[in-house]
Amino acid sequence: MVDRIYRVNMTDLTAKVEDVPENWAGLGGRGLTSTIVTEEVVPTCHPLGPNNKLVFAPGLLSGTVAANSGRLSVGGKSPLSGTIKESNVGGTAAQQFAKLGVKALIIEGQPEKDNFYSLHVMGDGVEIKEEPQLEGKGNFAVVDTMLERLGEKTGVMSIGTAGEMMMPVANISVKDPEGKLRSAGRGGLGAVMGSKKVKCIVITVPKKATVPIAEPENFKAAAKIFAKALMEHPVSGQGLPTYGTAVLVNVINEAGGLPTQNFRYGQFEGHDKISGETIHDLIEERGGKTRHGCHTGCVIQCSQVYNDAEGKYKTSGFEYESIWAMGADCCVDNIDHIAEADSLMDDIGIDTIETSVSMGVAMEGGLLPFGDGEGIVRIIKEDIGKGTPLGRLMGSGAGAVGKAYGVTRVPVVKNQAIPAYDPRAVKGIGITYCTTPMGADHTAGYAVATNILKIGGDVDPLKKEGQVELSRNLQIATAALDTAGLCIFVAFPALDIPEAFSAIIDMLNARFGISLTADDVNELGKTILRTEHEFNLAAGLTNKDDRLPEFFSQESLPPHNVVWDFTDEEIDEFWNF
Ligand code: SF4
Repeated sequence: MVDRIYRVNMTDLTAKVEDVPENWAGLGGRGLTSTIVTEEVVPTCHPLGPNNKLVFAPGLLSGTVAANSGRLSVGGKSPLSGTIKESNVGGTAAQQFAKLGVKALIIEGQPEKDNFYSLHVMGDGVEIKEEPQLEGKGNFAVVDTMLERLGEKTGVMSIGTAGEMMMPVANISVKDPEGKLRSAGRGGLGAVMGSKKVKCIVITVPKKATVPIAEPENFKAAAKIFAKALMEHPVSGQGLPTYGTAVLVNVINEAGGLPTQNFRYGQFEGHDKISGETIHDLIEERGGKTRHGCHTGCVIQCSQVYNDAEGKYKTSGFEYESIWAMGADCCVDNIDHIAEADSLMDDIGIDTIETSVSMGVAMEGGLLPFGDGEGIVRIIKEDIGKGTPLGRLMGSGAGAVGKAYGVTRVPVVKNQAIPAYDPRAVKGIGITYCTTPMGADHTAGYAVATNILKIGGDVDPLKKEGQVELSRNLQIATAALDTAGLCIFVAFPALDIPEAFSAIIDMLNARFGISLTADDVNELGKTILRTEHEFNLAAGLTNKDDRLPEFFSQESLPPHNVVWDFTDEEIDEFWNF
């Protein structure tokens, strides 16, 4: 199919299909969403008003047989951080969009009526339909309803009740190949979808639809080298497939960087009870699945299916970040309470990191004692899910909760919660939290790889030397990977195995019949970062927003007793490229 831009105007409830402008043709994924947002969204607009746009784009390699290439980028102005946002997600939608020739889906405007709608994306356009029976429904019920209506193969993206209520922690759920959910979690883009009154987007693709490949033989050869490298690397070939991302619980705890009790300590006494190894054994014992891909063609399969003590399905995609946030950060060591919370958060449609860090801040403010897993589950279900005044507050993110409870130790950058690596003990990731245009986001430049896992080199996590350069290089490379639609975990072999990196460029060249070099890809990453940075500056942010909260400089973190010690000038050096 020839690529087209699908544009939906929710003000007059019309949809059209447009040719791809020349300057967007070489872009996909994050490169495209960030370019469209920068070109079409007024940076100072209210993120929940009619002038914001919500943009979906599959990566340049999505829909092909390239391993781990089925990632979707969702972009817009974030109601949480006020910055440009790209939230990256697996599931079936990216591959389906690519096969339909949907280069990007842009949703703009806002309807006058207070009804919710579905958008049905098909080869010849988009059908907009009122959906009164879906209002107030959780994500699982929405997916079930749409699959019943349109068939098992249908792609579904939806918001839960949090998105309908436009909570800044609301995410967008994407159905995976088995009908389970993945989340475009960060930055509150579910609230933007709610503000446009879109409850769900469904995608149907003709049976034999494929993406065109300009040089099929070259593509096949490069894809083979790439998949082999992914399977041979110890992290992507063994650690992640065996224990999932929760393999990191013990690793980061050992390194003294597992944020515990609202970022007070770097190690958690209960780490073994919530570790990847423990979860692996429980999954085997209870008949779940230790390996599971969030999209077809994933050869790493870091996701799992986790059952409860009765052997009944509880949750999937049970990630390190969610387990850490509800676990160590809130001092909960009961993995079944964490799994229950994870499942509820998926259904209500809220970011597990932002919500759980908000809980940690509220616990410090006295809402609940640390360790009260049952209390957390109750608040998620009864308050956030139903939108009580407490739920509305908890659904507004860690920054708002900190203000409401008079807490001074609030771990956010650009008002987005800091994820699962303490920046004092893993200084490279601290630079990423400060400088990424997204607000605190570990995936934007995963310096943990080189600081802790010793992948792509060895930079001492406790020292400042080399961290700015490391984070910069990783952020540039990640922006390019996000544009290609590749999962972040391909970065491990790409950093260590030169053939894996070359194979990515070879696949891009064979897909489009072009001749990109490594320098071109590097330049692409830089351009994307600059574009995003420009949007943020125009939205009113300054370099003063590229900072960690002051308590990281004032309190030393056990067990290494380290503080955040970068000067403003050292941090600002990041943008010198
Ligand atoms: S490795 Fe994990 S996150 Fe990446 S594509 Fe596979 S299942 Fe999804």
